[in-house]
Parts: sequence; structure tokens; C-alpha cells
Amino acid sequence: MSEHYVKVKIHVEQIKPFGEDAEKQGVDAEQEQEEEQVAVSSFPPASVSPDPPSITIAGRDVSNTFKHKGTSRIKMGKDDKNICGKHNLDVSLHGGRNVNKLGHERTLHIKGTGQILQGKNNENNGVSMHPSKHIQVARREDGFKLARKRRPVTVDTSKAKTSLEALKLSIRQLKWKEFPLGRRAPCDIYWHGVSFHDSEHIVSGQVNKFPGMIEMLRKINLSRAVRTMQELFPEEYDFYPRSWILPEECQQFSTQIRMVKENDASVNPTFIVKPDGGSQGDGIYLIRDPSDLKLMVGSQAKQAVVQEYIQRPLLIDKLKFDIRLYVLLKSLEPLEIYIAKEGLTRFCTEPYQEPSQKNLSHVFMHLTNYSLNVHSGNFVHSNSQSTGSKRSLSSVLYRLAAKGVDIKKVWSDIIALVIKTTIAVVPELRVYYQAEIPPGKPGPTCFQILGFDILLMKNLKPVLLEVNSNPSMRIEHEQEMAPGVFEYVPSPVDEEVKVGVIRDTLRLMDPGHKRTAISNLRAGGLDHGEEIPMEAEPQDRSPDEGALPSLCLKQVYPKYTKQFNYLRLVERIAALFIRFLGVKGNMRLGPTAFRTFIRTCKLSNSNFSMASVDILYIDITRRWSGTMADSREAGMGLQAFVEAFFYLAGRRFKSQPLREQVASLLELCEAQLETPPPGGEERRSVSCSRALPRSIRTQTLPHPHQLSSPGPLRRAASQDYRLHQRLKPRSLRANLEN
Ligand code: ADP
Repeated sequence: MSEHYVKVKIHVEQIKPFGEDAEKQGVDAEQEQEEEQVAVSSFPPASVSPDPPSITIAGRDVSNTFKHKGTSRIKMGKDDKNICGKHNLDVSLHGGRNVNKLGHERTLHIKGTGQILQGKNNENNGVSMHPSKHIQVARREDGFKLARKRRPVTVDTSKAKTSLEALKLSIRQLKWKEFPLGRRAPCDIYWHGVSFHDSEHIVSGQVNKFPGMIEMLRKINLSRAVRTMQELFPEEYDFYPRSWILPEECQQFSTQIRMVKENDASVNPTFIVKPDGGSQGDGIYLIRDPSDLKLMVGSQAKQAVVQEYIQRPLLIDKLKFDIRLYVLLKSLEPLEIYIAKEGLTRFCTEPYQEPSQKNLSHVFMHLTNYSLNVHSGNFVHSNSQSTGSKRSLSSVLYRLAAKGVDIKKVWSDIIALVIKTTIAVVPELRVYYQAEIPPGKPGPTCFQILGFDILLMKNLKPVLLEVNSNPSMRIEHEQEMAPGVFEYVPSPVDEEVKVGVIRDTLRLMDPGHKRTAISNLRAGGLDHGEEIPMEAEPQDRSPDEGALPSLCLKQVYPKYTKQFNYLRLVERIAALFIRFLGVKGNMRLGPTAFRTFIRTCKLSNSNFSMASVDILYIDITRRWSGTMADSREAGMGLQAFVEAFFYLAGRRFKSQPLREQVASLLELCEAQLETPPPGGEERRSVSCSRALPRSIRTQTLPHPHQLSSPGPLRRAASQDYRLHQRLKPRSLRANLEN
């Protein structure tokens, strides 16, 4: 059995609760905080032992969950408190680092495999090591020596903010070099706490944020991106609840709900309203009737998403819960996606009941946010990863497996959801990227860790709730030591999961360790028999990484290219869009560039004159600029261009399903662009832009069986564009039957 599955026993002298501050500017402060124990396994779900690791608090067993009633924070008994805030440990996991914001020293001692995570200095510090472990440790030391021979990778951590502690630990484990105050010479990696723009003027190396990611993952933009994919591939994208964008779709929402209710009086759906830029459950409420929408804040219309509410979630211990999964977007071009094998689950604190007029306002029953539930008297701070109000994903999957659930299927469905969602947001990200770092301009490359929030329905189908561009990477929790006196204390479960994710992200981004993604390409597709990574994957470890655990991040793309590449149609439209943008740094297409696109691709003819092209441009652009709250630039953005493209595809290839229409038009345009244009305006415009990436151009088309099913959202190819309605009604019924 892999060493990563060895159970560990953690002795902590003190276990403390938490309370994480929300990072401003879009940082998700879902505050995965608990004082739970940890397994040092590189985890993934349901690998082996269903026995949760145990924890002892100095001198006494605290493996039973303890409940904290009446206040949101744990009160500790005398024995648990150490006035100096100093913790005595068997093994120092952090090499004596000071993580306490109030200046208290603390160390965490782990018996068992804890030494894997430390440098040599700590290995004998009170560890009672099994003899067989000596061999492993010696091998790891060899690895460290090898690693030392290379120039250490340099990391600028000056902008890391709340991820700093986890980052420091990761850098220490890797024996890389940290620059906490920045550096005059360029670093290999820049770690930002919030956005790509945390530091300006980076011209080389790698940054852990993509330009535009925060904007792209706001609730409205994510809903739009997924909706576009739902129009093309309704069956594939049925994991995202039906959503309407407020205020612009308020009327459609009301009309459609009224129609659904008129058609079948027994249908009584519930909806959840979420403010666009919100996080931590702020401003969220449930409604059963469109007239209950709160549309205004003062004199301003509220930007929000109203979404069908999943009425029958899977319950554990009668409680609703959701999953936080960490995903690494390693590269946009070529597209590379990794999923962390361990995640967190966050539980409600009031037993679940299907929504009724009476319980709609019960947030502890309906919302799983830690930040809300921690204020419930029922919040359970457990020192076990398999009980309490926050648990590891693996422990939940163990439990489901024990009940006979096919967790391999659940896991592979989750992987599919992650890949499809990423494919939905990548086109717009590419537009942001080229605007920020146009081809030819020096700039860094980017990668980013994302936090996917996923709900399992009663029938075990995963549903995407949202994607966080800045998932909390805190590994400490705030604890109220005395009224009004707060201290930061370590959270082992957060540390275990998050340090693993950051460390392995860094390993994958190591500039001296470029493994081609293509080498990992497999012939097969995603199947339900293989997806829970139970063992360390040997190819995931380079020779100089002998001292480190195997990667906790699993590549899913391009690994499953064959299965998902056909979905990347909008990305090909984005490639066309970028090609005709022309001016470097621009994100919108002007009327001339749009005409150039039509001419170059030979899309106008006697039935569709250039005058009609201009009307199309003006009509779509005007409508979209009205819906975009932050539209500073004039012109046609990508989403508007996609709509125009769908319309053009519908005109030209009338009798086919939308996805076929779009694929056909793409082929036509791409074929035209292969041929050098005859000259003049087109030549200048095209030559100053990037060529279509080959990997996208050559992607496979949908399988015939996928093409044959008529999409219920199919856009009608109207001769008169003005008659066209972007939002097609579709039956709510199917999605509400969870
Ligand atoms: P926030 O960013 O404010 O946390 P989320 O979209 O994550 O917003 O929603 C908050 C919580 O509401 C989720 O954690 C989940 O428990 C619940 N929730 C959100 N959307 C739905 C939905 N469509 N159906 C059921 N529950 C939902």
C-alpha cells in the first residue's frame, strides 16, 4: 500500500476553532476552517481505509466529535488552553515557523508519516519512526541532494496575501527560494493573492493568476458562458441549473415560470437569487414566485442571477452539504487541466427539508456556506475528518462507498463537469489574455488554482454551483481566545489539502521540469472504472522529486481530449474573433473589423448584403453594450460575436442542429483563412493577428450520435435577425426533478 495511505495519528496540544476573514476583491473566503484531524494520505476519494485517522489532544483522546452550542466559536476547556499559545509536538511539521498572527510560536507534531512533509532538519525531532521508514527517508534524502544541485526556482511571494503561509510551507518542502519582499531581478514565479494585476510590469516568468479570471467567474458571466454551451450541447451541459440574468431577463423569467405553472399546476419550483459579485452566501435568498424578486438596491437595479433551486440534494446525516474541489488551470493554450484528489465538504447545520413557504428563509438548512453555518449553534467542530460540519471529500466518498454507492461513477462525473465548465470559460479568457499580453509583447505565462463548488443531487448527479477564482488558501483559523481577542491557530485539514495543492501546482509549473502535456495523452476516454486515482502515479514524479509525495493533482486534460475536444467550438469562434481584433490590447471588434471578417470569410452574398451585415453588427452590439455593466470599450465583445456567429451559421446551414451549423460555418471560415486573402484591407488586418491554433483547428467533430439529437435550445435561423430571441424557453420540469 502506498505510504500516502498510511494513517497518521496527530497529537496536538491544542485544537482551536477558526473564523476566516473574507479577502476583499473577489477572494472567496468560504473559510474552510476546522480543527479537524488530518490524514497525510495523498488521498483521493475512497482509496482504501475507511477508518478515519484519529487525533489526540495532548494527554487525552478527543476523537469524539465535540459540539459547540450557543456560540459560533469553540470554547476550550482548561486543559486545552495554553496561555502562551505554545504547542508541544512530536514532530515539527513547520520547522518551528511562526504562523500565529499575534506572535505566538506554535508547532504541530505528527506521528507517522509527518516527516515526509518536512525538511531534513526536522526528521529526528522527536519522531518515533518505524524501521521500514528509514529506507524511505534515505531515498528521500537522495532526492533532496539531487534537488539541491539545480539552481533553486525563485518565487516572489510579496503579493501572496492570505495564501502566504501555505505557500511558504510549499516552497520550503520544494527547497526553492522565496522572495518575500520581491526582487529586483526577475523571479521564475510570481504568486498573487488576488489578481493578475497584483504586481504590474512583469515581463517574464509565470504568474498564478490569469487576466480576466475574476471577471469571467462572476456569477453572471459564468452563467452566460455555460448558457452558450447549453445552446450548443444541452445534454452535456445539464449539470448547471437553469439560470436567468437580472435585471435584463426578469421579464422572461416571470413569463416562463408562469407558463410552466399554467401547464402543470402540480409543479411548484423554488429559485435561488444570488447577487452577481457576492460570495459567502451574502445577499442570497430563495423565492417561489417571480413577484418576490428584490430588483432594486436603492435606485439601482441589482445585478444578480436567479437560478432554479436543486430541491433534492443528497443528504448525509439528514444534512445538505456541498463539495469544494481544487482545480489547476495550468495553461490555456494548449489547454491543460488538473484536479486535486482531495477536497472539502461543507455541511449545513439544520436538517434539510424540501423548500416550503415556511422554511425558505432557513439559511442553515439551505445554504452550505461555512461563513454562515459557523454562526449556528449547531455547528460541529470536529477533530475527525469524517464528522462535523466540515469534512474531507475522501471521508464522504468512503461513507457513500460503504453504502454501496458507485463512487467511481460520481468521481468521473465530477471530472467531466470540471472539464466542461473549463471549456466554457476558456474562450473569453483567451480574449483577456491576448489583450493583456498580445503576441510579440514580453509577458509572463499564467496558471491558476480555481475552487469548484459542487452539489450532489439525491440521484448522485453533480451540479455546478459556482467557480471561485480565488479559493481561500488560508491554513489558519481565527479563534476568539477571550471576548474580543482573536488569535490565528493552525487548521490541520486545511493545511493538508491546501499545502498539497499549492506545492504540487508549483511542481507542475517548475520551469526546469517541463513535461509535455501531450506525452500524457491517452488513447482512451473517461470511463467509470478508472477515475478515482487510488495509487501514486509514477509518471507524476521526476527523478529529483524523490523526497516528495506523489502529485495530489491529477491531469484530466489533455488526458481526456478525445472525449471532450468536440465541445471546444466556442474556442474556435474566439480564435477567429481574436484574429480580427487587429489592434493589440483590444477586446472588442469594431464595425470595420467585423466587415473584414465577413468579407475575408466570404459570408456575404446577394441574400446577405454588406448593409445587412452592418445592421447585424449595430443591432447585436447595441443590445450587448446595454447588458454589460462594465463595458468601457465600444464595439462588439466576444459574447456578442458568438451570437452573431450563431446567427450567421443558422442562416447558412438552415436545416441542421445548431452545433452542426456552427461547426460547418467554422470549417468554412477556417478554410477561407488558410488561403492568403487577395490583399488590401484584409491582408493588413489578418497579418497583424495571431494565427488559429492548430490544436483547435484540427479538433474532432462531434460523434454522429451526438449530432442526431435535436437540441431543445436550438436557435432558430430567422431571416429577420430582429425577430430572433436569444433566450429560448425550455421545460423546467426535467431539471427540477432531482
Ligand atoms: P456564494 O458565492 O455566495 O457562496 P453560491 O453560488 O456558492 O454563492 O451559493 C451559496 C450556497 O447556496 C451554496 O453553497 C449552496 O449551498 C446553495 N446553493 C447555491 N445554488 C444552489 C442551487 N441552484 N440549488 C441548491 N442550492 C444552491
